[in-house]
Amino acid sequence: MKTLLLPIAFFLAVCTGAHADPIAFIGVSVIPMDSERVVENQTVLVDGDRIVWIGPAEAAELPANARRIEAAGMYLMPGLAEMHGHIPPPNQSQAEIEKTLYLYLANGITTVRGMLGYPGQLALREQAKEGAIDSPTLYLAGPSFNGNSVSSPSQAADKVRAQVEEGWDLLKIHPGMTRAEFDSMAVTAKANGIDFGGHVPADVGLEHAIGMGQLTFDHLDGYVEYLFGADPEGVDEVALNEIVRQTLGAGAWVVPTMVLWETLYSVVDLDRLNAFPELVYAPPAARASWERQYRQRTSDPQFDREQNERVIDARMQVLSALHKAGAGILMGTDAPQQYSVPGFSLHREMQRMVDAGMSSYEVLRSGTVNVGTYFSAWDTFGQITEGHRADLILLTANPLESIGNVASRAGVMVRGTWYPEADIQVRLAAIAASYRQ
Ligand SMILES: [Zn+2]
Repeated sequence: MKTLLLPIAFFLAVCTGAHADPIAFIGVSVIPMDSERVVENQTVLVDGDRIVWIGPAEAAELPANARRIEAAGMYLMPGLAEMHGHIPPPNQSQAEIEKTLYLYLANGITTVRGMLGYPGQLALREQAKEGAIDSPTLYLAGPSFNGNSVSSPSQAADKVRAQVEEGWDLLKIHPGMTRAEFDSMAVTAKANGIDFGGHVPADVGLEHAIGMGQLTFDHLDGYVEYLFGADPEGVDEVALNEIVRQTLGAGAWVVPTMVLWETLYSVVDLDRLNAFPELVYAPPAARASWERQYRQRTSDPQFDREQNERVIDARMQVLSALHKAGAGILMGTDAPQQYSVPGFSLHREMQRMVDAGMSSYEVLRSGTVNVGTYFSAWDTFGQITEGHRADLILLTANPLESIGNVASRAGVMVRGTWYPEADIQVRLAAIAASYRQ
């Protein structure tokens, strides 16, 4: 009898072991992100990877096994997203990949749209989903479509079908494709139900890319080229209004990555970049390479900081106009990139979005509600409401009052798994120690 029962007990333990006890945030001020509001003294119950109940703290009937997180005086908001993120390629060690994913998570980023796929990377998406690694939920673009990887319209179509077959979530567009190749890619993508986003190849141009249904325009790629084409001296208001109108009409999204462009255009002094405290979480070789590239750019005889500053100003005008018109804006920084340390860079980006005229609430929308809308065919998340994926950030100060308060973390929840801030700090310290020279 015993020998028969043992495997059954073992089976039950395995089945139920994955299902942790429910977790309740008690007495918290909820920022649901359905409108600009704070709902005070709520209890939020999480079971498995879902938010299962929200209501006044005094009305809560919690399961006996619920783990209580006393959160009176604190704020609970949905987790954020890095919508133009990168995950180190599989030729790097699993430890390095996991550090990068943890840096996102530690900063309250619970969703990453990986914007450059490598063969083998889809396994990581599954490990994240199963909770086998500490990671945001990953949605991954496949290997890049560009001037080198695409050689003809028919080969572009084959590449689309192959990536759909492999199970990638999105096609990543880089510069270099001809218009015929781009069109073939776009038509085949549409026929196969996969979206494409990223850059705008020069031969294609922004208007044509919008017309062909490109879903996201990352780095505001193509916008400044379009505007400066109309008036090299600066931003032509008529052209700006026209391109904003087309963006809205097509329902396209933009991922502005403002801070990265300021770095790449070297309009920020190197000393200021090198003083970023989060550089302790970047590998020394990466830091050295970022500094080397900065020095190379600025020592080029063609380097013209004033012209670059005009481009950066134009980008701020574009973001402001898109925002005022109600275009879909998604939060993203292109981390890990030059001086863009995963997770930490998002806090800098949010400040620049405020500088472009967005309120704190609107900035938070770009990383929560908008992301949920963008991924609505995949899952339900981005707000604090029953049935949504339990991706949450617990804060000690109200982020609607000041965007800087997003850094006042007390903990992060990813798909129902709770990471208290004390644990996060221990792991961050270990990551920093691994990079200390
Ligand atoms: Zn990128």
